[in-house]
Amino acid sequence: MIKLDTVISLAKRRGFIFQSSEIYGGLNGCWDYGPLGVELLKNIKESWWKSMTYRDDIEGIDASILMHPRTWEASGHVGQFTDPMIDNLTSKGRYRADNLIEEYIDKLKKKNHTDKAAELEIRLQSVKELSDYYNIIIDFQIPDPVSGSTEWTEVRNFNLMFKTFIGPLEESSSMVYLRPETAQGIYVNFKNVMESSRQKVPFGIAQIGKAFRNEINTKNFLFRTREFEQMEMQYFVKPGSEFEWYDYWKNQRMEWYLNMGINKENLKFKDHDKLAHYANKAVDIEYQFPFGWGEIEGIHSRTDFDLKAHTQFSGKKLEYVDTVNQERYTPYVIETSGGVSRGLMAFLCDAYNEEDVTDDNGKSEKRVVIKFKHSVAPMTAAVLPLVNKDGMPELAEKIYKNLQRNFKVTYDTSGAIGRRYRRNDEIGTPFCITIDGQSVEDGTVTVRERDTMAQDRISNDKIDNYIFDKIR
Ligand code: ATP
Repeated sequence: MIKLDTVISLAKRRGFIFQSSEIYGGLNGCWDYGPLGVELLKNIKESWWKSMTYRDDIEGIDASILMHPRTWEASGHVGQFTDPMIDNLTSKGRYRADNLIEEYIDKLKKKNHTDKAAELEIRLQSVKELSDYYNIIIDFQIPDPVSGSTEWTEVRNFNLMFKTFIGPLEESSSMVYLRPETAQGIYVNFKNVMESSRQKVPFGIAQIGKAFRNEINTKNFLFRTREFEQMEMQYFVKPGSEFEWYDYWKNQRMEWYLNMGINKENLKFKDHDKLAHYANKAVDIEYQFPFGWGEIEGIHSRTDFDLKAHTQFSGKKLEYVDTVNQERYTPYVIETSGGVSRGLMAFLCDAYNEEDVTDDNGKSEKRVVIKFKHSVAPMTAAVLPLVNKDGMPELAEKIYKNLQRNFKVTYDTSGAIGRRYRRNDEIGTPFCITIDGQSVEDGTVTVRERDTMAQDRISNDKIDNYIFDKIR
């Protein structure tokens, strides 16, 4: 299993991901996507978008980040979108109380204190109110992970929504929230989309967009950040048919991750033990990250909670009229909610490989290769003239410009060809196209495939089709 630090350092060195505002010392919980990161991000989102909306029953939208503040009262976020927070009096460290306990359980397990860990797990599962967290932390003398101190404040609720103001006056009447999820933008547009697209239940609405959460602790690189993107789809169904659709979407979403090339053994379903106030069934798709299993997507059966709540708060009926069966009802909703950045991190970790190979001189060396699915790789091909003379660069440049009309391509002339292959393996470029002496004579080039390192010699006017075929 690779170390997270290895991925972070490669991501920075090769221009996938940088710390936000790094020259000012960085901003906690925020990351910037560099030239390769943004291509990868775009390819992931495009693949999701196509799989979700290039079908009869799902429409896409792009709602605004700032929404009417009543939205968040109706959804329950104003009252309930909180995490339990605790402060250490000595170190001044601030923690999510549930995470503090969970991490202590992991520590106990690692030290083989299984009885104590099991006892703690039972206590954690039976938590009903904030003081229960506090009592557990005090009863088990759980220390601050950094300082070891056991001097704690009470546990308080902390709302995760960021606030800002519309207009010049910073007063409560002009306060709005940065959306903490994209789902509500879909619910409030339910009627608009249904009527304008003439969809009939069952149908879905999909959206990709930024969400913001003022997380108490950010950690594990892109896993828990304060600004992130979600890919969400809300599927509106007839009440009573929700579990059938829940199973359908649960399987569809798992298939998507497998299809994107993630190894089966690194993915699993995890049912929710405790259901949120809006759900009657829920499951997470988890990925085995270098730091352990973590949720990358949630599939939730949300009943009619959201549409009913918005009906109540807005006074506008959000119903479906079934003209065939002469019925009128508020649809139930199945939600699929994935994090783009958590997905990206899973793709990056899963595709990362270190292999022992033999170089051109027969010496063994380590090859770092990111085996992204071809269509997801940030760079599709590299064009490499073997030497920078004898007509090779002229032909190579022509091929390069030609390929750029369809693909993201790089051109590299510096260093031995083996070094250039390695540089491209390390960023996951599926095809390296080498222009050599023979190319100048007969117009053929070699195409080296990243994973097998096998080379095909093909005519240079067939490269586009060759790549299209392989990508498909
Ligand atoms: P967690 O329990 O990890 O906080 P959650 O259950 O609150 O996550 P949801 O509200 O179901 O998450 O959000 C759906 C998806 O959005 C998650 O599966 C995850 O991929 C992504 N997501 C949620 N919070 C964050 C975050 N702080 N940083 C990055 N991605 C996030």
